[in-house]
Amino acid sequence: MNKIEHIGIAVANLADSLLIYEKLFGEPAYKHEQIASEGVNTAFFRNGPNKIELLEATNPASPIAKFIAKKGEGMHHIAFEVNDIVTEIARLKSEGFIILNETPKKGADNKLVAFLHPKSTNGVLIELCQEIR
Ligand code: ZN
Repeated sequence: MNKIEHIGIAVANLADSLLIYEKLFGEPAYKHEQIASEGVNTAFFRNGPNKIELLEATNPASPIAKFIAKKGEGMHHIAFEVNDIVTEIARLKSEGFIILNETPKKGADNKLVAFLHPKSTNGVLIELCQEIR
């Protein structure tokens, strides 16, 4: 795993949170993207070599809606950049991690993504992401 690519934060209202994070970073989000398959609206901020992803649910069945209902707003996942997501999924699976989607799917910000179940990572939802080239 190369580095922390981004940290995902679950927010109840993206428009409200954009105002807060624009103030925090002193610049606007560089990207807004809706991922219909995941039921989320996202916005990305740059922070040095890393990014912050804000996630808002677009419907009540969205994983973000369920997360907020259970835990409230806050840190949702840490994403690590990998060079070869298929190889990395196989390696982590053989190490006993629970992979939520063994076939990588198209995520936000031009990435292939896969998630590790928090049960196997001390309560932290971990995202693997590989840039689509
Ligand atoms: Zn993410």
